[in-house]
Amino acid sequence: MAKIQFFGAAKTVTGSCHMVTIGRHRFLFDAGQFQGPWELEKLNYKGFGFKPSTIEALILSHGHLDHCGRIPLLQKMGFEKKIYCTPPTADIARLILMDSAHILKEEFLWKQRRLTRAGIKMKEPLYSIEDVYFCMELFGRGAPYEKKIQIVPDVHLSFHLNDAGHILGSAQIVLEYKERRSIRKKIVFTGDLGDGGRPTVDDPAPPEGGIDTLVMESTYGDRDHKSYEASVEELEEAIISTVRHKGTVLIPTFALERTQEILYHIGNMKRTGKLSKRVPVFLNSPLAINITRIYKKHCDYCSLFRRQHINKKKSPFEFPGLFFTETVEESKAIHGIPGPKIVLAGSGMMTGGRIKHHLKHLLWKDSTTLIVVGFQAEGTLGRRIIEGAEQVHIFGEPVVVRARIYTINGFSAHADRTNLLNYAKKARPKRLFIVHGEPNAQAALAKTLKRVLPRTEIHIPNLGQHYVV
Ligand SMILES: [Zn+2]
Repeated sequence: MAKIQFFGAAKTVTGSCHMVTIGRHRFLFDAGQFQGPWELEKLNYKGFGFKPSTIEALILSHGHLDHCGRIPLLQKMGFEKKIYCTPPTADIARLILMDSAHILKEEFLWKQRRLTRAGIKMKEPLYSIEDVYFCMELFGRGAPYEKKIQIVPDVHLSFHLNDAGHILGSAQIVLEYKERRSIRKKIVFTGDLGDGGRPTVDDPAPPEGGIDTLVMESTYGDRDHKSYEASVEELEEAIISTVRHKGTVLIPTFALERTQEILYHIGNMKRTGKLSKRVPVFLNSPLAINITRIYKKHCDYCSLFRRQHINKKKSPFEFPGLFFTETVEESKAIHGIPGPKIVLAGSGMMTGGRIKHHLKHLLWKDSTTLIVVGFQAEGTLGRRIIEGAEQVHIFGEPVVVRARIYTINGFSAHADRTNLLNYAKKARPKRLFIVHGEPNAQAALAKTLKRVLPRTEIHIPNLGQHYVV
């Protein structure tokens, strides 16, 4: 008999963390950070709801912060066993956790200055860079897709290929175990599922051969995305028309996956002659630059390299006129270079990072085009701009918005409603838990799933709830 319990991403999108207990062994799927409003983020400071020292193994689906962001905390609180993931995920998680520790420290120092003046004592940051180093020792060399690993007697783990189609190295976790003498059972955790048709990752498909329990994400359980092809066309049009007028294209980037996807499409424009090789493209985000290097290092995991037989020494994300600008000096020098030019810079929601400096210099010019290719959460600078603000404040100074703004929605790395339904129909599990979604999206998905899979038990678990499976 096995038990599954949900300690994160339950009726919310972030904080992915689910525990499976088989016999006396406890296994954890993901240890992600809660992100968003303070009501959610404060859950990071409240412990896990279980003793980390009792966990036999942590199995990580992919390297996004909402899936790996509490690993240093887990280790700090007593977890000392092995972490299983694919090799690219181990490298990506290291960079993402380092970046997170750095941001946590900055936030802490900033808040501490203000609160100390007000006589309030601050708690320590969630974890430090040293904590990240310690937890990285628990990562092995990584497990490739489809390799069956015995974690404890009678419990086997594998990462299903096709991959989860979400980001480089993203994996669907398959846990097979023996119940009583001869009954074999299978639990599958989708992690985050991609939308299919992407250049960098494979289309997701469920493992074959009967699934007893499926834990499935539901981020877009209630809506479909705009077509990917139409979004690529829109991106090309926005770039071409700006370059024609010798303007600057600014693209706020999410460092992981979106940056590489956009670089690939810009490279294609140059390769096919839609964009002159002379137009400079600046990748102005140290994190995005490092992650792009990981894509090259793990080219065997990137479907672009595999499918198109691209020379492995030549990255599909590099092309004539692409400059990796890492230092602050290089970043400032971009402003002195006349248009046309294209600048990709973090952060994706324009809340911090170098994009804010570029916006301050360029948002008030009508020769600028701002192309928004990612989700903009409520309360962010990006959200205010795409909602049509005529003026915004950047570093305390008012800046009028004269740039042309494009919001392109079809680049999502998550499966939409139709693709989630198609996946579940192919998987046909005996029981299905819907996680990683807002309540409305989950309820809408559950309603349709009950109709299309009448024999499957469907559950939307609450935080902390457990089930016998
Ligand atoms: Zn993800």
